[in-house]
Amino acid sequence: MALKDFEKDMMRDSRCSYCKVIPHVMMTDTRFIDVCPSVARFNFHGFSAGGRMVAGLSLLRNRIEYTDGFLDMIFQCQMDGACDVSCKIDRDLEPLQVMQELRIKCIEDGQLIAGHMPVLEGLRKEDNMLQRKKADRGKWADGLDIKELAGGKAEVLFHAGCRYSFDEELWPTVKTGINILKEAGVDAAIMGKDEACCGGRAYEMGYEAELIKYADHNIQAWKTAGVKTIVTPCSCCYQTFKVLYDKIGKKPEIEIYHFTEYLDKLIKEGTLKLKKKVPIKVTYHDPCHLGRLSEPWIHWSGKEIKVAGQMIVHDPAKKYRRGAEGVYDIPRDILKAIPGLNLVEMYRIREYAWCCGSGGGVKEAYPEFALWTAAERLKEAKDVGADALVSACGWCKRNFTDAVKETGKKIEVYDIVDLVQEAL
Ligand code: SF4
Repeated sequence: MALKDFEKDMMRDSRCSYCKVIPHVMMTDTRFIDVCPSVARFNFHGFSAGGRMVAGLSLLRNRIEYTDGFLDMIFQCQMDGACDVSCKIDRDLEPLQVMQELRIKCIEDGQLIAGHMPVLEGLRKEDNMLQRKKADRGKWADGLDIKELAGGKAEVLFHAGCRYSFDEELWPTVKTGINILKEAGVDAAIMGKDEACCGGRAYEMGYEAELIKYADHNIQAWKTAGVKTIVTPCSCCYQTFKVLYDKIGKKPEIEIYHFTEYLDKLIKEGTLKLKKKVPIKVTYHDPCHLGRLSEPWIHWSGKEIKVAGQMIVHDPAKKYRRGAEGVYDIPRDILKAIPGLNLVEMYRIREYAWCCGSGGGVKEAYPEFALWTAAERLKEAKDVGADALVSACGWCKRNFTDAVKETGKKIEVYDIVDLVQEAL
């Protein structure tokens, strides 16, 4: 696809601004109705999905030129997809795909974001997004009795992802993950230093070639190792393997689980027993990549027909991704299964959740905006009386933890795996 393929979507943009807020029926507190961090922070229409639809059309028709301000407007966005869900309440348009293609076009036209460059250079040299040495990738598993693939075979592969592999503060979560799998008798392995990035975060920054490269590399590596099941605690990797590889026509022929899905399976079949009380009041933050963005990709080809001069129908009928098919109940079921734990919900949840702030290359290029976005979520968590904010993604936990340090807010931040560990 290319930006040109969405010209009709951009033309049909009605400037209605639905993409800036959660749907009216979901609004229960006027302080928490914004859904787009970008327009909420910069307070200018250009920083919304609707504004970027206008910008994309103008660029396509050579009505505007690239400027630093234009690029800020396109890239100061987490690509979290909340705008897309809100837009589709009323109209069948694809603002998120427009924003993705707009970024790809910027990169193709040589319009690079300074804050992304060291990350991309690191990725090309060391196969990870954290500018760390590839040789150190498996260090998090030192001392664990876990099979490391080195040309060997394994049916279940635990893919830690770049964030968990190199962020030492998150190592307890992945170590716990491995111990849980072992305790449950799962014969899992890791790739260690041979594990590579999924390519998803680079794609969100506009680098499509990196997504294709890592899809080819990873799928071949899994095939060679005889992998039948991938389990990952990283929501970004999960969405990339499950959705983005399919989107680019490279759907892997294996089962892909987010770690919460695997945990839920083990708990529900009785293999994993949560016995100890964890008396804490928590609220759950839906990671965008585990929630609305993990909805399976829908391929469609056909034609558009205009009826009575204005109504648009598709032949065959077109099904849209509206975010409702993401992973929402499973993490909540796990939390509810922990004895003594009290789960309270925030105002913006499931497909209408506010982003943690770290996606779309924002954490890398616009760290102040990333922290502001996370701090907004912390306010919401405090407002519902939670003592802790729980998520299921290393990128969320890193950004929330940084925001707690920055703001001094009195709230704990957990990965759901950490709480499961406490309950074992
Ligand atoms: S992107 Fe969708 S919701 Fe936003 S202004 Fe355009 S039509 Fe309205």
